[in-house]
Formats: sequence, C-alpha cells, structure tokens
Amino acid sequence: MTRPGSEVDVVIVGAGLSGLTAAHRLRQFGLSVRVFEASSRVGGRVASAAVDGVHVDLGGTFVGPTQDRILALADEMGVARYRTYAAGENVIRWRGRHRRYRGTVPPVGAGLLDVGRIQLSLDRLARTVPLGDPAAAPHAAGLDAESLGSWLTRSRASAAARDLIAIAGRTTWGCEPEEISLLHVLHYIHQAGGLSSMLDTEGGAQEEHFVEGSHEIAARIARGLGSALRPDAPVQRIETSAAGVVVATADESVAARTVIVAVPPALRERIRFAPALPPKYAQLSQRWPAGVLSKAYAIYDEPFWRRRDLSGQGLSDTGPVFITFDASPPGDDVPGVLLGFIGARYAREWDDLPPAERRARALSSFADLFGPRALDATGYIDQRWGAEPWVGGGPTAAPGPGVVVPYASALAEPVGRILWAGTETASRWTGFLDGAVRAGERAALEARRLVDASASDTDTTGDAA
Ligand SMILES: Cc1cc2nc3c(=O)[nH]c(=O)nc-3n(C[C@H](O)[C@H](O)[C@H](O)COP(=O)(O)OP(=O)(O)OC[C@H]3O[C@@H](n4cnc5c(N)ncnc54)[C@H](O)[C@@H]3O)c2cc1C
Repeated sequence: MTRPGSEVDVVIVGAGLSGLTAAHRLRQFGLSVRVFEASSRVGGRVASAAVDGVHVDLGGTFVGPTQDRILALADEMGVARYRTYAAGENVIRWRGRHRRYRGTVPPVGAGLLDVGRIQLSLDRLARTVPLGDPAAAPHAAGLDAESLGSWLTRSRASAAARDLIAIAGRTTWGCEPEEISLLHVLHYIHQAGGLSSMLDTEGGAQEEHFVEGSHEIAARIARGLGSALRPDAPVQRIETSAAGVVVATADESVAARTVIVAVPPALRERIRFAPALPPKYAQLSQRWPAGVLSKAYAIYDEPFWRRRDLSGQGLSDTGPVFITFDASPPGDDVPGVLLGFIGARYAREWDDLPPAERRARALSSFADLFGPRALDATGYIDQRWGAEPWVGGGPTAAPGPGVVVPYASALAEPVGRILWAGTETASRWTGFLDGAVRAGERAALEARRLVDASASDTDTTGDAA
C-alpha cells in the first residue's frame, strides 16, 4: 500500500553520481530533497569492490584535465587522487606480433600515417558540431544518417586505422563502429575537447584515479543525505500538475515542487508519466540505448610488468580484453593490479560465459600482453554492466544512425516540472563522471529556479487572498 507522502521541494530519481550531486547541491541551496534509488546501493555506474584487500573500481574510474566539476566535487568530499601509472613502455599485440612502444601512437605498421589522418579528420569535423546542440551542426542530417563505420569506409581508412578506432569506440561507447551515429561520435569528441583529450592517459581523461575509488565520492554524499535517501525504491510513477509533482514508488508517494529524473535515458521508459510525456520524449528512451562494456581485474603479489619497464598499458586486436591499464594502488611495494576492458562484440560473447571461463579468458588475454606470469593472479574479479538491471550496460549510451537530429533535444530540455539529469544529458564530457556531475549541478540550478518561481507565485496568491 502506498504511504501517503511527505512533501519536499525536490524529488530526485536515481542515486548515481548525477542524482547525488543534484541532491547535494540542492541541500546546499537550503532546499529539502527526497532521493529514490532503485537498487540496494548508491552509485549506479560507479561501484567498488575489495579483492585480496585491494580496492578496485568496477565502473567509472579515471579522471583528467578539464574535468573540473568531478575534480571539484572529489576535493569537496575529501577523496584524493593519484596518477595512473604510465612509466615505461606500452605493449601491443597486433596481427599476431607482440611489440613494445613509447608514447601514445602504437606501431601498427604501414597504416600508421593513416591513423593520424583519420584522427585529424574526426577532430576537425567534431569542432563543427555545436556543444549541446548537435542538430545545429552543418550537414547534421547527413552526419547523423551515417555510422562511424560507414564514414571510416567512405574515408578509405586503412585496416589499421579502422581497427584502432574500433578499439577506442568499444571502450568509449561500448559498441562497434557500425552501431553508432557519426554525429553523436563527433559531438562526444568535441565535448571532450578532442580525441587526444578523450583517449590519452597523460594529459587526457585517463590521467588520474581515486585512492579510495570513485564510489567513495557517491558514498560520502549519500551519508550526508541520511534518511532523505531511500534505496531499494524504484520510482514507478510521476504525476505532474500545475501545482507540482507527485512521485511514487511501490509503497510511498512524495509531493514536491519539481522532480529531477537522473537515470540513463533508456531507463526513463520504466517510469509511468501522467500526463504522458510528449512523443519525442517517450520515444527517446527506445532510441538512446546503453553500450556494452565489462571490466576484469587481476591481482598479483607485485606489479611484475614494471620490473620489465612496462607501463601495464596494452592494446590488442584480439579479445576478449583489448585494452589494459595498471590499476595498482599508489606507492611502492604494493600489490599489482591489471585492469582489462571487454566491450561490444567481445563482451556480447564473454558476458555469457560461466565465471571460471571468463576468468580464464581474461587472464589469457593479460598473458598475451604481459607474459605467462599474468596467469598467476592471486585474485580476480569482473563486472558485467549489461547484467545490472538498473543500469543495463555501459559505459554510456550509443545512439545509432539517424536518431540524434530528431531526438537529442529531448535529453535535457525540461518538460514542465520534470527536469532531467544523468551524464547523457550533459553538454560537456557527456558519458563521463564529469558529465554526470555537470548535469546534476545544471539540474539543481533549474530546480532552484522552479522552486523559487513557485514560491513567489504562492506569495502573490497569498497577498491577493
Ligand atoms: C565499465 C565502465 C567504465 C567507465 N569508466 C569511466 C572512466 O574511467 N571515467 C569516467 O569519467 N567515466 C567512466 N564511466 C562512465 C561513468 O561511470 C558514468 O558516466 C557515470 O557514473 C554515470 O552517472 P549517472 O548518475 O549519470 O548515471 P548512473 O550511474 O547510471 O545512475 C543512475 C541511477 O538511477 C538508478 N535508477 C534507474 N532507474 C530508476 C528508477 N526508476 N527509480 C529509482 N532509481 C533508478 C540506478 O539504479 C542508478 O543508481 C564508466 C562506466 C562504466 C560502466
């Protein structure tokens, strides 16, 4: 039975980083909030685990320069960062050969020059797409009608350039190049400040990670919210009227001036809106699907690759793991931690395997890159985000060709008293932790304006009475 509810200024749906940031800022503005989270834990796509006493981030991990909002929030919450280990040489397994290299450009043979050409073209095109309004780009409909894959074909990308871009795409959007709108890709790249800023470790989005893990930021905000936050409470229904909103779970309903829906676009569909959302909004959730990205961590008694002057960063043109990082804790004399990503077509196969088989295949990928010692892991854990019922995939959305021009405006544009947050609604660093925080802060400002406007309406009515 529904508990007749309390009344607050703002209800927030979803306690991922975006919803939590919105709630935290609204409380700082002096407003009252109620946060409903569907799952039993907060954080959404940030989650942590301890393996052999070593902390690992199962979801979002890395941060880098210009991601000012997540960096400021982490500082505010007292969650320290350290640099991603990048000393020494990287490794690549490519066309059956194993090579070491320095810097960001891997030795992929004759196709190397073409990699630079394709990167330049993507960066140049990306700058033509206005931030926050991809539909206003010159030739937007044409760019949207094309997939990243068909553009690579039309641009006569070499096989090496195509395969490297595919690796970047599997990590960034959890999809194959044929599955994603070129316009979305270009907008995303522009939002991140260019391909290098998006993909690099030093000077890029993988430059640092958090000593206690990214989830600690979410956990500290959640602790501050206390009983205003309710886990295990999926929101089922949102009713709006001229006076306000009523947000209902299976057993509680809360009246508020406004609501911030901070769930991934595809999950908006599970909420019943009354009156129904305008068609564009209702259809957006069917057209803005999550990608598929999984993670595997192996723990060793030491970062053995560092003894051979290797950074732990590796690339492979075979799966299931196709990109790796050294995620060992900070300091000397620490256990070694290798992080591997499994995405898109590799994840679709690997995610279905039994746990022992997933472990065996991930360790075998690590061994292909770092030698047989990688098979002797003392600990192992993996996370399949496609199996998380209230997330549905990762790292972020991968909209297909043809949907950005007609639907992108329904990501963030409020519908009356319904406001939207979540990293997919951000106009800088969408898809990243930073985008989640920015979107939460933007939605909190929108909510404050609405609450202030409702209060002054009430005052006026009161004066007149
Ligand atoms: C494997 C992986 C690796 C990543 N790596 C990085 C990285 O290195 N750097 C980086 O910047 N980003 C990374 N990301 C992306 C980053 O984690 C996300 O952008 C960010 O965490 C999204 O936060 P959010 O609050 O927008 O959404 P979410 O975290 O998805 O939060 C939404 C919340 O809403 C809840 N919810 C859903 N429906 C309802 C409902 N009906 N009622 C109530 N609650 C509901 C969900 O349970 C969830 O808690 C990665 C993501 C993944 C999956």
